Amino acid sequence: MQLRCFDPDCATTLPLHDAALECPRCHGLLEVEVDAPKQSAAELKELWASRRRSRDARDISGVWRYRELLPAYDAKEVVTLGEGNTPLVRGHRTAEYADVSDLQFKHLGWNPTGCFKDLGMTVGMTEAVHMGAKVVACASTGNTAASLAAYAARAGVTGRVYLPAGQVSLNKLAQALDFGAEIVEVDGSFDDALNTLLAKANDGIYFLNSINPFRVEGQKTTMFELLDQLNWQAPDYLVLPGGNLGNSAAFSKAFEELLRFRLIDRAPKMIVVQAAGANPFAQMWRSGAATLTPVAEPETIATAIRIGNPRSWQKAIRGVKATGGQVLDVTDAEIGEAKAVIGRDGIGCEPASAATLAGLRKLRTSGEIPASASVVAILTGHVLKDTNFIIQSHKKHAEANHAHS
Ligand SMILES: *Cc1c(COP(=O)(O)O)cnc(C)c1O
Repeated sequence: MQLRCFDPDCATTLPLHDAALECPRCHGLLEVEVDAPKQSAAELKELWASRRRSRDARDISGVWRYRELLPAYDAKEVVTLGEGNTPLVRGHRTAEYADVSDLQFKHLGWNPTGCFKDLGMTVGMTEAVHMGAKVVACASTGNTAASLAAYAARAGVTGRVYLPAGQVSLNKLAQALDFGAEIVEVDGSFDDALNTLLAKANDGIYFLNSINPFRVEGQKTTMFELLDQLNWQAPDYLVLPGGNLGNSAAFSKAFEELLRFRLIDRAPKMIVVQAAGANPFAQMWRSGAATLTPVAEPETIATAIRIGNPRSWQKAIRGVKATGGQVLDVTDAEIGEAKAVIGRDGIGCEPASAATLAGLRKLRTSGEIPASASVVAILTGHVLKDTNFIIQSHKKHAEANHAHS
């Protein structure tokens, strides 16, 4: 395996274990070029299924179980908290709300630190350890910070997180503190926090933001696990929220590999949903523009997707197009309403995750997808990730009801 520039016109390659954040020639995104596995598709499926009976920490992890398609490490190097293994939960009230007959949620919020960032962090932190890093860092809207902090603690290295001051849910901040991370607050938005960090990237710090190609490797296993759970039969649609577009990029790569290695013969149409106040990718899609124009001041209640300049848009757009999917946006009011319905299904999620259900409903209302479609929606964060949001919205409801009575 090696690293390769994502831009096919450049295609510069680097050795796999290189800490470069971008292509040294064109400054494009890098990705891990996965070698074809030795096993056939049928043998891989059997091997991965058999690991569910194993007690090996790598087999128990829902990420490392699929290690034939990941960079290779010694078993003792792997930094894991038993991530992955998240269930598919059928929606009832939510299916009615969206008006689809077959709706299931894959709840990535049921990971060790309560969001999907753990799936990428286990691989990113393992690579950091392999590279001999003593300090790892990221910029974050909160969840990446919590995840980095936990995995850094497991690995025995210093975790340092750059957060936009006053814009991070206290629950997420509390996690980062509990896991012992060093916290640097930056005035401005997530994008400013990321730029502050990038300016320091050569200070002997290993950089674990979502453009880190090893994090993408971990996150792509979400789709391996999902298809495994569905007996390798893709649903018609896969819906996920889009912020920095790391997950959209990772899922795109997963579909490419699953198709290339004949593990599936059809990928789901990938639908990315953004918040209307932080929607550069949706704007680009609607206008048909060839490049993304950042939103200067992103604004949404869904803080995990409050990002104006998503770094991984080139990787994400390739997957949306290749699968015949699309990109749309939903308002904060639509997100808040959808979140409450997910709660009433006994599932719960953080606001950003609810953009999926809101987006699905919108596409049903416009008739762009049929009621008979099978849909899997990705819930990205746990209901306890943003408790202030819940308390405040119930307070508002109670006050509104009081005023009417
Ligand atoms: C990080 C995050 C997102 C956004 O994912 P991207 O990969 O940045 O698009 C959405 N929801 C939650 C809960 C997150 O933590």
